[in-house]
Formats: sequence, structure tokens, C-alpha cells
Amino acid sequence: MNRQMIKIFWGIFLYTIFATSVYAGQIVEVTCQDCGYNIGEFFLDTGMMGGADMVLAYCSACNSIIAVDQEEDRSHWVCSKCGADSSNIYRDGDELDGTTFTLHCPKCGSENLNRQRVGFWD
Ligand SMILES: [Zn+2]
Ligand SMILES: [Zn+2]
Repeated sequence: MNRQMIKIFWGIFLYTIFATSVYAGQIVEVTCQDCGYNIGEFFLDTGMMGGADMVLAYCSACNSIIAVDQEEDRSHWVCSKCGADSSNIYRDGDELDGTTFTLHCPKCGSENLNRQRVGFWD
């Protein structure tokens, strides 16, 4: 194997690490640090095939944390748990009655949510 080949293999190797760390969708387990409530597992970010950008959001109709697709028009968002429409769904940082909405625990209201990656979905 000559030097040129080694360079190419290194390039492929580094690209693979970069691509999987940046483009792979993550499966994230969200728990509340204060009351210990296990909020659930969510498929977030963009899969390697693209076409979706999943983020955590909050449904005020059923008080639960869900995942919504930011690539889709906001008016198309529907709560995956109760079917409420987008007027009930807030993302972290959304303006709500003049205050900034912060994602919080549905049980105790704490904003100390722990997000732990448990795997990749694409
Ligand atoms: Zn809901
Ligand atoms: Zn809590």
C-alpha cells in the first residue's frame, strides 16, 4: 500500500466518523432530573436520508413531550399522543404570551431535563 492509498483510506475513515456524528438521527431518552420521571425516547435530528429534522416540543393539550418535524410547515404539526393541532404545540424558545416557552417536565414542571443518547435511528 503506498502513501496515496493510505491518505485516501484516512479520508474515507474520517468522513465516515464525521457523517455519522453529524447526520445520523439520534434516539434520545429524556428524563426529569428533579422528579425522575421518564418522559420517553424520541427520534431526533435528521436521518442520513434527510427529509426530516425532529426536535422536542410540548403539547399543552395533553401535557406531554413529543417530537415534531421542523422541516414541515408548522401548521402541519399534530401531537403524536392526543392528535391536537399545532396551536397546542410549543417548541423550546417559542414566544408564548410575551414569555419564552421552555420545555419542561410534564409532571413537576422542572426545566432540568436530562437528554441521553441511547442510539441512532438511521
Ligand atoms: Zn397532545
Ligand atoms: Zn419532573
